Amino acid sequence: MLVDCGPGPQGRPLSEAPGSTNSTLHLVFAGTRLVLSRSTDGEDGLGRLTPADLLDLGVNDGERIVPVDLTPPDGLDVRIHDLPADFEPAPGYEVVGLREVGRRWPEELFRLSGTALQKLEWIRTHRFCARCGHPTARRLDHQAMACTDCGQLHFPRVAPAVIVLVQRETEMLLGRSPRFAEGVYSTLAGFVEPGESLEETVHREIREEVGVEVANLRYFGSQPWPFPHSLMVGFVADWASGDIVVDGEEIEDARWFSPNRLPPRLPYGLSIARKLVDDFLQRVGGA
Ligand SMILES: [Zn+2]
Repeated sequence: MLVDCGPGPQGRPLSEAPGSTNSTLHLVFAGTRLVLSRSTDGEDGLGRLTPADLLDLGVNDGERIVPVDLTPPDGLDVRIHDLPADFEPAPGYEVVGLREVGRRWPEELFRLSGTALQKLEWIRTHRFCARCGHPTARRLDHQAMACTDCGQLHFPRVAPAVIVLVQRETEMLLGRSPRFAEGVYSTLAGFVEPGESLEETVHREIREEVGVEVANLRYFGSQPWPFPHSLMVGFVADWASGDIVVDGEEIEDARWFSPNRLPPRLPYGLSIARKLVDDFLQRVGGA
């Protein structure tokens, strides 16, 4: 698996977000995408929604609000509105995917929107008990969906995945998935399987995707990644043996890149993939 990508600039602080006119942040989700105002005051032209925007959109302030536990920045009141995926916004508004939000908006807002979407999706997809099939109801005290019949609690899902920058002296191994935007190469990644340690997942995924053996794993950091509910756990690993042989499915091409010979495009700016690449470039004296 490879996560995302497409390049993008770092955002501005939340307080400087376009259209930021009060302390209530209305996150209006149409399916998995956010409704934003095509404001003219921001350089990127997409603003957060004000109460007046909600009226324009035909969404009452108190309508379709889903109780989602979030820890927003100080002073920010966040309201999550749940609209159907086929919602057609009025002229002057746009429905955009979260990656697009991350390209245009501050990291703080991207994180908050991502968390909101993961929890909203969990509520949407756990309306019935997976054990007995009866309806569930929200249990705010446990942050769980509870079965109204057998009492089983269903919690939000988090799927751990490893993401790895493989290094061979002053080169790094990056690959591209057929799903990527043109020219983007990124670090390799894969989901942890039941019974596996993170380290075992690293060895298996790298072997499966590019036929290379690695050694000397170092923990890099982690990042919640809301596509759809991953926790990316980053590692740097040293190449140990083997030539690159791509699997041809998850990965269509993979190569060794050096600071003075980079791919046409690097991973998305807010992703841990990009942070791994930037860290490598810093360590080996590049860009
Ligand atoms: Zn049940």
